[in-house]
Amino acid sequence: MQEILKYQDIDFKIAKLENELKELPELKKAKEMQNLKADCRNRLDVLEKNAQKALENFEKARQYYDELVVKIETLSKSVDEYDLEKIKKLQQAKNNFYQMVEKLENELVKIVNQFSKVNNDYSAIVKNVKIANGNIEVYKQKYEDAKAQIEPKIAELKKELAEQAKKVDKAILEKYNLRKKHGLPVFVKNINGTCGRCRMTISASKMQLFEKNGYVECENENCGRIIIKM
Ligand SMILES: [Zn+2]
Repeated sequence: MQEILKYQDIDFKIAKLENELKELPELKKAKEMQNLKADCRNRLDVLEKNAQKALENFEKARQYYDELVVKIETLSKSVDEYDLEKIKKLQQAKNNFYQMVEKLENELVKIVNQFSKVNNDYSAIVKNVKIANGNIEVYKQKYEDAKAQIEPKIAELKKELAEQAKKVDKAILEKYNLRKKHGLPVFVKNINGTCGRCRMTISASKMQLFEKNGYVECENENCGRIIIKM
């Protein structure tokens, strides 16, 4: 029984180190930065679409303005200064033109504001991406450093575990490996007639088996640990 306990100890150390590797804060931070970058990329896409729209609006407004200028010019040329009807029409057209120009100017101010906002947002986002990229590099390096420290320890322990496996009874090792996926430790102490893990009382019949075989399985379905004499 002592050999399997030693085996479990080594295995436990490996699990702890593997967990440590998975839970490294640098890894989490790097992932957070990756998410931030993805978020920035989405926001840049939206900005690009908005900028495209503003540009289209600007182009439309400019075309409209050009068309109006041509119309007024054509009308002016055709006007005879004694033709009152045409002079009235021209006046009307000019009034409409000025109104239109005012509207266009307002539109242009809006578009310019949109552009400036897009530009500011863009700069802010690009800055964030740069920061994120820098941080990712730092966290990656820290993670690699930590990994380089932990992984050789795991490899060493795995060798030790393989050696220890040779000293353990095959049947009990098989039991151990089957139960291991439900969580370590697999083998626990008998604490005053209870399971060392869940503290359920070992029944009288199980206690007899325990005394006879040196081990017994905990009757609690949620526990199922192997209680051994130690
Ligand atoms: Zn139990």
